[in-house]
Amino acid sequence: MDESPFDNRDGLIWLDGHFVPWRDAQEHILNQGLHYGSSVFEGERAYDGNIFRSFDHSRRLIHSANRLEMDIDFTIDQIEDAKREALARSGLESAYLRPVIWRGANQMGISVGRANVRVAVAVWHWADYFANKAEGIRITYSPWARPPANSAPVDAKAAGLYMICTLAKRRAERSGFADALMLDSDGNIAETTGANIFFFRDGGWHTPAPTCFLNGITRQTIIALLRSNGAEVTERVIAPDELKTFSQCFITGSATEVTPVRELMGILYTVGPETLDVMAYYDAAVHDTSAKFEVATIKLEGQP
Ligand code: PMP
Repeated sequence: MDESPFDNRDGLIWLDGHFVPWRDAQEHILNQGLHYGSSVFEGERAYDGNIFRSFDHSRRLIHSANRLEMDIDFTIDQIEDAKREALARSGLESAYLRPVIWRGANQMGISVGRANVRVAVAVWHWADYFANKAEGIRITYSPWARPPANSAPVDAKAAGLYMICTLAKRRAERSGFADALMLDSDGNIAETTGANIFFFRDGGWHTPAPTCFLNGITRQTIIALLRSNGAEVTERVIAPDELKTFSQCFITGSATEVTPVRELMGILYTVGPETLDVMAYYDAAVHDTSAKFEVATIKLEGQP
């Protein structure tokens, strides 16, 4: 794995409509994205040279930018072309893609009337998100709860929302855990710091309804795959009391893919045959270019 700093690598980055050498993809430190969180992004993976559910990710990127009221100079087709071309120029078949949109250095302050909006796409190799993924990860509790839908644009993949995720992840890793489980503002199960969560009990899967967090594209893919394979999936409110009643658990995300959980807030789960099935369904789907999915849902209820 390339451990070199992200500002000192070979390759090209698509920046505001052109490919520039990786090290020249620069922004001044006085930019609104950095100071005020005016930034949205995507995380996606390519398999065998194909970006999985690329259009859904581009749609969500533009949706997120619209949520932050950023006007972008590129159409969804131009962003799709930029992603495809960036992947091709990377020479990678299996890759992680990071499109990002942010307010630049034209203006400082919370006013954005004169702000410029910048767009970039970078591609690099990112193997497994978690070490020893197949064995299952250990997750602890996050003292930081997800904000309710009227406190933040929770259906946007906005950089600002990752402040609490970074805090929760840092605390978890310092205590020897791989990740942290975040509750919602009512104290029910929400998601981890970068992935959605599923639980198994008595032959069926249960997952929190996405009322205040991303309805992940992977989450939607998994629900579709499970249902088409005859499994039952219930989207509902899940209270922490219920955690001990489940026997299996996994988390989902574009980077995370399907990662089994073997310990959650002190409760032990098995990486059982049903979880292994889900991993196999997802692995087959990402390599199957003819697989069709319904366009992913983005907007959540209750957003201002
Ligand atoms: N929740 C959070 C906080 C995330 O960062 C991600 C990863 N984008 C997800 C859920 C899963 O989203 P997706 O499956 O669309 O990658």
